[in-house]
Amino acid sequence: MQSLAPEKLTLSALLSGRPLVWLVCLLVVFGGAALTLLLSQAVRSVEENQLRARFNLAAGERISRIQERLDGQLKELDAVQRFFNNSHEVTLGEFQGFVGPLLGDTLVYSWVPRIAGNEREQFEARAREEGMAGFAIRDLKGDSLVTSPLRPEYFPVYYSVTSRIDQVPLGMDLNSNPPRRAAIAKARSSHGVTVTERVRVIGVVEREASGVVMLAPVYDGTPPSDERLRGFVVSVFSLNLEMEAAIAPDNLASLVMRVSDVSEDGHEQLIYQSAEAPESDLLQRRVVPFGDRQYLLEVVPSADFLAEDTLSTADLVAISGLVFTLLLAGYLLLMINQRQSALALVAERTEALREREIELQLSEERWSFALDGAGHGVWDWEPQSGRFFLSRGWKTMLGYAEDEVDDSFEARGRLIHPQDQPLARAELERHLRGASAVYQSQHRMLHKDGRWIWVLDRGKVVERGVDGLPQRMIGTQTDISSSKAVELQLAMAHGQLRSLLNAATQVAIVSTDLRGAILQFNVGAERMFGYRAVEMIGRHPVVLHLESEVAERCRALGQRLGKLVPDFQAYMEEVTADDRFDEQEWTFQRRDGSRLTGSLILTGVRDEREVLVGYLGVAIDITERKHVQQALEARDRLLEKLSARVPGVLYQFRMEPNEHFSFPYTSAGILEVFEVDPETVREDAMGLLERVHPDDLERVQSSIRRSAELLTPWREDFRVLLPRQGLRWLRGESVPERGEDGAVLWHGYITDITGLKLVEQELRALSITDALTGVYNRRYFQERLDLEIARAERREGPLALVMLDVDHFKQINDCHGHEAGDRVLKALCLRVGERLRRIDVLCRLGGEEFVVLCPDTNVEQAFQVAQALWQALAKENVAGVGRVTASFGCAAWRDGEDADDLLRRVDAAVYAAKQAGRNQIRIAE
Ligand code: GH3
Ligand code: MG
Ligand code: MG
Repeated sequence: MQSLAPEKLTLSALLSGRPLVWLVCLLVVFGGAALTLLLSQAVRSVEENQLRARFNLAAGERISRIQERLDGQLKELDAVQRFFNNSHEVTLGEFQGFVGPLLGDTLVYSWVPRIAGNEREQFEARAREEGMAGFAIRDLKGDSLVTSPLRPEYFPVYYSVTSRIDQVPLGMDLNSNPPRRAAIAKARSSHGVTVTERVRVIGVVEREASGVVMLAPVYDGTPPSDERLRGFVVSVFSLNLEMEAAIAPDNLASLVMRVSDVSEDGHEQLIYQSAEAPESDLLQRRVVPFGDRQYLLEVVPSADFLAEDTLSTADLVAISGLVFTLLLAGYLLLMINQRQSALALVAERTEALREREIELQLSEERWSFALDGAGHGVWDWEPQSGRFFLSRGWKTMLGYAEDEVDDSFEARGRLIHPQDQPLARAELERHLRGASAVYQSQHRMLHKDGRWIWVLDRGKVVERGVDGLPQRMIGTQTDISSSKAVELQLAMAHGQLRSLLNAATQVAIVSTDLRGAILQFNVGAERMFGYRAVEMIGRHPVVLHLESEVAERCRALGQRLGKLVPDFQAYMEEVTADDRFDEQEWTFQRRDGSRLTGSLILTGVRDEREVLVGYLGVAIDITERKHVQQALEARDRLLEKLSARVPGVLYQFRMEPNEHFSFPYTSAGILEVFEVDPETVREDAMGLLERVHPDDLERVQSSIRRSAELLTPWREDFRVLLPRQGLRWLRGESVPERGEDGAVLWHGYITDITGLKLVEQELRALSITDALTGVYNRRYFQERLDLEIARAERREGPLALVMLDVDHFKQINDCHGHEAGDRVLKALCLRVGERLRRIDVLCRLGGEEFVVLCPDTNVEQAFQVAQALWQALAKENVAGVGRVTASFGCAAWRDGEDADDLLRRVDAAVYAAKQAGRNQIRIAE
């Protein structure tokens, strides 16, 4: 390809541009110039305004300053005048002392007294005496002083203070000079300060000689009148010096100052000008009063002031504007010319390309045939015109004849599988946009026989328009059904495997290559170890282990195999070498540093030729299991300890449906409680049941059956006969549950309550016996009597009572003491008890009153009992007391009688015996 280098730019090339180009350039130049002009004009006007304002400010200030200066002169003179008005006589010394400090730029201050003609000689003589040698009143003639002729009145310069005048014209009569004379005349008539017109000052250099004289009249008392005029205080100043002093702080050159005396109407006398004034419309003027004069002050700018900015901003604007305009015009000219030459070049190259296109068409047909022949279908597409071409090979691939498919983009599109269409279209559009170098798509196409075949469709835009739009695109289509089928099968197998691995969320599965680099890290592993699969792929699984544990395992394995196992990689190789499954507990380390215990199986992965290609590790988290196991063991230990320490036996008791009993569990306490070994009763409970007291065995067995039947808690107190401990009372409590096999299982506890039983018996005996005699008390008698009456009412036999009361017992107490009385009662009970039948029950009703309850006894038999008792008493004396007798009453129960009635009757019988003389037996009525 020939490069599109820009044509060489020469002046002739520029000039050969078309008239239109020139017109544009001229327009730019004129437009630019006009704009520049306008802009610089505006800037200039602003500048002028600024200059005027600056001038006005400076000029006003200068005029004010001169005015102040003139006012100052008047004030100073006024002060001197006052000094004279206030003092009668002023000496030369006093004058010099007062005026000296006021002098400043003023040339001279003088005291000019009024001297009458006849006083002249006297005055001159006095002046000479005061030290003014050769003093005489003189007239000013030209530049010299000559002795004055006789005159009626003189105004000679007398006291003077000066710093600038070499030779003060002492004695000069002011009247001798016309301007000064005019001023005196004016002052005499106005009585005020008078200023002369411009005069030549005597005795100073020429430049300072132009000046004015100010006169202030001094009077002897008031009101002022010509007769009282003593003279004048006079000050003289140089106009040049004064004005220069007034404007000194400024740049003298910047403004021109002009002062004119305009006191006389219509007459203007220039009295001062600082410099030559140039032509300018800038001017400021002001008329200021000075004593009795009017001065016109004028200020104009100097040439320097006007010429301060030689090159103003407006000029700069104008110059730069013009230069810019010219540059712009030049640049435009250049650009337009370049574009035109580029367009010409493009036209030339397009022509050349068109010629080549024809050659290309020929070659295209050749490669199209070649591709078709090689089994690839060819398509050729012009997107802008819509022309589309499908080769014969393309159609044959899908089973169609040449005329069975239209040569159109749409016809091709319709044959693409609906599911694949969006992706294929997107790929194509991406390429058309220029976003991909080549168009490529794998999709399914409909074969004529109705099946779908997989094709690889590839293409490229070979021509684009000037606007960048694709003009032509050529593509090929290849049948890839067979390779695609294999690929899909592989992908599916791979997908299945992956899903399988990930479905095992509770199991960590990690596979590595031969070097140990992780290839697979399933969801279970992610969960278990806290790492993401992406960060573990490629790393070695040793990071999941504890360094110390790995070292320990390597050392142990090395010892077993009799060789060195340096690291985990070597460990994996050794363990998987003979493909034995090695399940071991390992401590793993999670990503966050925490640990877990896992059971790990390491195996080698082999390909179809049985060559080792990698390793596979499968791990299960057993931390929880271990915890549970430890907790259970701890619980067992606790239970064992508890059951060994409790006083009694914890047990499980089992009853089979066939009434076979066993103790599946008994705690160690069984050795003490039943004196049997747990082993002997584990299978069969007989060894234990044998020990139950024969009287209680049936009760125990029936209560167990009841509990099994109703599934109610079992509770029983029963006795056992033990080889070593003999008779013991036990108490059992347990809760039954029915198993699925129909058996009933009790969980319970049996404890020795022998001690408890004894206490219980004792308590019971205490509550029904009399503490003194040991025979039954009244409470027991009444309970028993009710029972016996109930029995008698059931016609189960008769019932009788024998009651006895000791005779004169009170006397026994009184004679022998209360203890002897107690002894008698005990002895009586012993003797009566010996004589009673087994069925009889002796009770103490209270005091020395007793009753014998005789079941199955009629009244005759009762009488015999009473007789036997009477004889027992009568038989022998009670030691230390002597003979003791008692009165007896007998009564048999009658049908329908209650306890109280029976007792009342027998009591009445005893009473009757007492009445009859005591020591005898009476049968109740
Ligand atoms: P009588 O032949 O009429 O039965 O005369 P008596 O003295 O036996 O009759 P009384 O009922 O008047 O007196 C009973 C006395 O028994 C009164 C009381 O001090 C005495 N006594 C009651 N209980 C006891 C006891 O437990 N011990 C002793 N030593 N005396 C008792
Ligand atoms: Mg009594
Ligand atoms: Mg008595």
